Amino acid sequence: MTADHAGLPPRGPPVSDELTLRRELVAQGAKLAVSGLSQGTSGNLSARCGEGFLITPSGTPYEDIAPEGVVVVDRDGHWPAGQRPSSEWRFHRDIYLARPDAQAIVHVHPPYATALAMCRQDIPPAHYMIAVGGGDSVRCAAYHTYGTQALSDAVVTALEDRLACLMANHGMIALGSSLAQAMWRAVEVENLARQYALARQVGTPVLLTDDEVTAVLEKFAHYGLMSRS
Ligand code: 13P
Ligand code: ZN
Repeated sequence: MTADHAGLPPRGPPVSDELTLRRELVAQGAKLAVSGLSQGTSGNLSARCGEGFLITPSGTPYEDIAPEGVVVVDRDGHWPAGQRPSSEWRFHRDIYLARPDAQAIVHVHPPYATALAMCRQDIPPAHYMIAVGGGDSVRCAAYHTYGTQALSDAVVTALEDRLACLMANHGMIALGSSLAQAMWRAVEVENLARQYALARQVGTPVLLTDDEVTAVLEKFAHYGLMSRS
């Protein structure tokens, strides 16, 4: 089942200027460890900027990233000499090309979403908050080595008609109409994964029907952060 109304709003009002976006990436990166979404240098964040995007540098602890250390990458995959964008710049680039609705991307390795991804399982509609992912499941993309074009192709496929996906034996990706929205979505998907994993310890989760999920997707078009850019 898909929900065409669940896509992000089209390119919103005024695109923030580059320095503002750089600062925002640093600020949101600093929140990752606190939120439990990532630790050390795992994960990466990006924001669409003009024809290209801004992305966190590779292998750098979030607390060491300064606004000028954020790397600008163009749509052809070029960046300034002497800098090194996240090793996952390919899937960030390919998601922006495939998804005009995405203004920001959060990639993280949080415990519960990653535990399900290690079992190569989708998250089914066992809680109505499945709608944060834009449909009736959060799919798990096929496994490929990090940083490869094959991984990028797999995540773009798993994100069709969706706003989040798991990545087999790796982690999770959340899209947003802003960086704040993508971060919110990543936190919600991790919470959903945690609740689903706990429910499986207790018994057999009962899944919502297509109609039940559709009703929530419709309400979500006007709910809280889901409806904001
Ligand atoms: P980077 O430090 O290159 O962004 O890599 C972290 C990661 O999560 C790879 O998937
Ligand atoms: Zn990763």
